[in-house]
Amino acid sequence: TEGTTPVGDPGYKPDFDISQPTIARVYDALLGGKDNFAADRVGADIYLKHVPEAGKVALDNRAGLVRGVQYLARKAGIDQFLDIGSGLPTVKNTHEAAQEINPDAKVVYVDNDPIVLAHGRALLATNESTTVITADLRRPEEILADDEVRRVLDFDRPMALMVVGLHMHFHDDEQPDEWVRTLMDATAPGSYLFITDFGDTGEPHQKAIERAGLESLGNGWVRTPERIEQHFLGLPLIPPGLDFVSRWFPEEPDRRVPELTELEPYQRIMMAGIAYKA
Ligand code: SAM
Repeated sequence: TEGTTPVGDPGYKPDFDISQPTIARVYDALLGGKDNFAADRVGADIYLKHVPEAGKVALDNRAGLVRGVQYLARKAGIDQFLDIGSGLPTVKNTHEAAQEINPDAKVVYVDNDPIVLAHGRALLATNESTTVITADLRRPEEILADDEVRRVLDFDRPMALMVVGLHMHFHDDEQPDEWVRTLMDATAPGSYLFITDFGDTGEPHQKAIERAGLESLGNGWVRTPERIEQHFLGLPLIPPGLDFVSRWFPEEPDRRVPELTELEPYQRIMMAGIAYKA
């Protein structure tokens, strides 16, 4: 019936709970995607109620993801990507951004929401260098032991670990840094760690996005830049360091950076950075 199937696909038979919103599907709804259900659209509306520009916040994060991948593939010469919390396929995905620059680039998508696997498989049918698995950041050993991960990625060579748009802000009570450390410890020297997160510099919009997350999903905390920097495990950040994603251009470190006051409040929510493991 209306509201229990994704828009445009009335024959869809999900094998997961669609009565509760999930962040993958709420984010898809905010990005204007079709792989979401009624409960997710309610969740997206809660975000829009608290932060009317929440869709733009999602799009900005997504644009930052693409810029980060382009930096990694072009400037850093990275040809392997482990993208944790990859989300549903959308306009431009990590493998598309990377393979535009290096057609041989390998990408493993990891998400704990099974809908990502369901939709990812269709997307990846024609792409042998790219795969998707259902696994959880909170169990990094399982990710490292996964046959599919080992088939596609060579842990003896540098890779980029991506924890973009999920890391700390959907995990309040646990040990996000330890999970990431376990993964980074398994990577070769010359690898990179790419993170985006909700920042908290004391602005009302930032608190508003946290309220939206807590009301719709029960999580989605904002964190100070100092705390976000700790997620990089002490590894040095490449220029321009950690900054609001809307003015963060790692491929163009000499670009004029707009003053904070030139950014709209919604552009001062999501922060991004890439660190290097020597
Ligand atoms: N990385 C994409 C981006 O930035 O556009 C998607 C971000 S989306 C807001 C967060 C994604 O992380 C969702 O697809 C969600 O299912 C996934 N996720 C949340 N917690 C996770 C966990 N513990 N392990 C793996 N994936 C997780």
